[in-house]
This record gives sequence, C-alpha cells and structure tokens, in this order.
Amino acid sequence: MMKIYRFEHEGLIRWGILRDETLLPVRGSIFTDFAPEGAAIPIGAVKLLAPVEPSKIVAVGRNYKDHAAEMGNPLPVEPLLFLKPSTAVIGPHDAILYPEMSSRVDFEGELAVVIKRKTYRLDDEAEAADRILGYTCLNDVTARDLQEKDKQFTRAKSFDTFAAVGPCIAADLDPASLEIKTFLNGKLRQSSNTRHLIFSVPFLVRFISRIMTLLPGDIITTGTPAGVGPMQPGDRVDVQIEGIGTLSNSVHKIR
Ligand code: MG
Repeated sequence: MMKIYRFEHEGLIRWGILRDETLLPVRGSIFTDFAPEGAAIPIGAVKLLAPVEPSKIVAVGRNYKDHAAEMGNPLPVEPLLFLKPSTAVIGPHDAILYPEMSSRVDFEGELAVVIKRKTYRLDDEAEAADRILGYTCLNDVTARDLQEKDKQFTRAKSFDTFAAVGPCIAADLDPASLEIKTFLNGKLRQSSNTRHLIFSVPFLVRFISRIMTLLPGDIITTGTPAGVGPMQPGDRVDVQIEGIGTLSNSVHKIR
C-alpha cells in the first residue's frame, strides 16, 4: 500500500510517499509519473496539507441506509448529488470555523475518492478503478439548520473550512469493505463499514462522469453513515478509515 502525503517543509510545498515514519519527497506529478527525489523527512517535521487541491468536490447525500433512516428520508433510487466548492478545503489539523449564520454545525465522516485521470462519460463501471488515484478521509461539515431552512444544500455545505480532507491518499486500496469511524472529543459517534454504501464507488464514478467531467485531483465524497451530530467551538473531530488513517480537526469560533 502506498500512502501519498502533501506537505510544507522549509517553505516548499511538495508531495511525498510515506516510508516508515518518514516522507520521501517526489518529483513529477502524482497523477502521472513521479519518482523519489532528495532525502527523507521525518513526518513530525512537516506541516501536513490537504493531499489534493480539487477543482470541485462532488458529494453524495443519503448513501448509507442507516443515515437516511436517522434523517427520516426515504432510500434514494439514484445518487443524490451536490457540490462543495474548492475554497472549502482544509487539511489535517486545520481549524473548522463555526460561522455566525448557523447555530447547528454537524460533522459527517466520509470516504472520499481522489480522481487520477480526466474522466467523462465512462461506459462501464469496471473502468472506474483505472480513473482513481486513491482514497482519503473527508469531514463533510454541514450547517444543518441552514440545510433545512434553504431546502437546498449550497449555503449549508459551502462555508470556508467545511471540507476537511486527509491525512493522505491511500493508493491500491479496495474501497468495498473499509471500517469508518468518527470520534467527537475522543468519543465514538459514527461506526460503519463502506460495504453498507447504497451506491458503490465504481457506480458513483461512472454515474457522475455521465454528468460532468472529472479532473485529476477532483474528489467524490461518498456519503456519511448514521451518528451525525453537532460540534461546538473547542471540539475535536477525528475521522478514521481503515487503511487510510485519521483526519483530525478542531472547531474554532470565527473571528
Ligand atoms: Mg455528507
């Protein structure tokens, strides 16, 4: 398994591959060809960044049966899609900013797909694996009160800092059966497995590519299981997915 990190070290932003507790910097593009370059850097000596800068995040709503039930929604017959803007992206340990327009901000731990190659109108979901670079954790932060008030998702899902992504991209990972957990201040709040996804990763890649072109680095976030709940300033949220690692962020009052 290869884990790709993006990080800042001595003023430079680079990608690197995890080897033991160090990052081996690479040259080239993680989407095409890359090779190690330079000395390994201890992972503790870098600032980790969001592992990609997507042009867009395509998000899937109600994609776990138990979450649809807890929200009182019927099961979807087709994927329910919405977009999160690229400007919402933050990385590991960055602050989620609690906006003054909302009084109910929820965490949603999700498995996210990182696209490798430009993909439009995929014929067959069997071709999807070839279009995927790997997988990461995503916290689809949501102003639940605004989602209900607006009846559509844009404002509720799009505040700056509302898409925490990381800590790495795990390549060569089978997304069909991964444990997914979310902790609030260390307490387990969501616990499921990606085998409970209503629409699978290959299905989603094909389906979305029939609508819009997916570009290298774009993210598809696959939806959240049951157990979503509110966060308060001062809280810490950890999204943990088997084979990827833990994405950790704290909530801060906006100022
Ligand atoms: Mg979500």
